[in-house]
Amino acid sequence: MEALRHSARSFSTSACRQADFTHAVIGAGAVGLAIARRLQQVDGARVVLIEKHGIVGSETSSRNSEVIHAGLYYGKESLKTRLCLQGKEMMYDYCKRSNVPHMNCGKWVVAQSEEQMGELQKVHDFAKSIDIPIRFVPKDEAKQREPDVRAEAGVLESPTTGIVDSHGFMQSLHGDFEDVGGTTALASPVTRVKAPSAGDPEWKIWTAPPGSTEPIPSSPTPQAPEQGGHEDDTFITAETIINSAGLYACGINNMILPPARHRTPFYAKGTYFSYSKSYPRPSTLVYPAPVPGHGGLGTHLTLDMAGRVRFGPDVEWVDSPNDLAPTPNSERFNAALKDIKSYLPGIDTEAVALDYAGIRPKLGKLGAVASGKGFQDFYIEMEEGFDGFVNLLGIESPGLTSSLAIAEEVHRMLYK
Ligand SMILES: Cc1cc2nc3c(=O)[nH]c(=O)nc-3n(C[C@H](O)[C@H](O)[C@H](O)COP(=O)(O)OP(=O)(O)OC[C@H]3O[C@@H](n4cnc5c(N)ncnc54)[C@H](O)[C@@H]3O)c2cc1C
Repeated sequence: MEALRHSARSFSTSACRQADFTHAVIGAGAVGLAIARRLQQVDGARVVLIEKHGIVGSETSSRNSEVIHAGLYYGKESLKTRLCLQGKEMMYDYCKRSNVPHMNCGKWVVAQSEEQMGELQKVHDFAKSIDIPIRFVPKDEAKQREPDVRAEAGVLESPTTGIVDSHGFMQSLHGDFEDVGGTTALASPVTRVKAPSAGDPEWKIWTAPPGSTEPIPSSPTPQAPEQGGHEDDTFITAETIINSAGLYACGINNMILPPARHRTPFYAKGTYFSYSKSYPRPSTLVYPAPVPGHGGLGTHLTLDMAGRVRFGPDVEWVDSPNDLAPTPNSERFNAALKDIKSYLPGIDTEAVALDYAGIRPKLGKLGAVASGKGFQDFYIEMEEGFDGFVNLLGIESPGLTSSLAIAEEVHRMLYK
């Protein structure tokens, strides 16, 4: 592994030189890692994976629920549904083959009222319509299997939902990538990108030395050389560029595309709560009924691979992608406890504590699920007029589940 250290002068003399790399992938989260791994498998590929931190996967990909989603919520024609369904199968298969810790523990979505039952019915009918395994659990069976879970009106079970060790998954992807000759440039924040032009047929990507200032993620201003990198600074060249920068992807988008195509990022923080007691501990994930137009899936109960219970995430709009400290707000804490107690009345609230937080990269203050208004899909496009630029924006949940399928999608865009 190495940081990018080339100087501009080393590359600018030869008239018919080859680009340094065939592909430059910006961002080494689960999605960037999966894409880099897939592209490096192509004959003759020379992929560089550029990451601003000194390790891979330290942002959103390691601050989530680690759920392998079944694809229940996102609408028939959406990219989220297509890539989640494909990604789920690929994820289970990959984890088995590569010994990544995972568990097909299933999930319950619970309703406490007839109104919530209506939402469960919609999820059920949608799942049936696209052949996702789903069933209502009879009351007696529910009581016998999970006596601590309250579900006054009904339980919908998704048997293909599971959990994965996200760190183990990313380490494995990274190992695969480097085993087939990929290059990782750590501690290399991208500060400026120049698209190919008539006399200059390659992408130029500048990175700042570790610790230097990064572009402001919400800035809609394209980076001029004076702002984001001098001609003398380190840069590399590549034939194609893939923007997989997560919470900072709009900033990279805005460095490259003209002002009319700039995007403004929105940040929906989700805080998690730990539970230090060993009882109650259901053996399946438990989610409340989805709320149309909500930015997430509700304060749910998930398990990690060590069997620990955690609750969350809630939804809180924040102004900065760095606002990652879990929010100690008693009103929000009490609201979360109320949500949790609605489906797990036996919890000891004294044993619930603030844990960690993650931030959803949003393209608007829009819903994450398709029921209700304002659903936001993934944005994955080969940008028109910018040959060899694949742009990934708004890769919120189910991005971890979909990562291997997103990699196939990017490969298809570039090669078919
Ligand atoms: C609270 C929460 C819960 C979630 N739960 C789930 C779940 O249970 N299941 C699921 O499938 N999905 C879930 N998700 C979604 C999932 O975590 C994301 O979709 C996925 O991790 C996105 O991966 P990524 O690689 O696109 O982004 P990231 O993991 O954010 O990676 C982007 C990388 O780009 C790097 N970068 C940024 N700017 C630059 C730059 N200028 N130069 C170089 N590098 C740069 C960053 O350092 C980072 O490492 C959840 C998300 C959140 C926030």
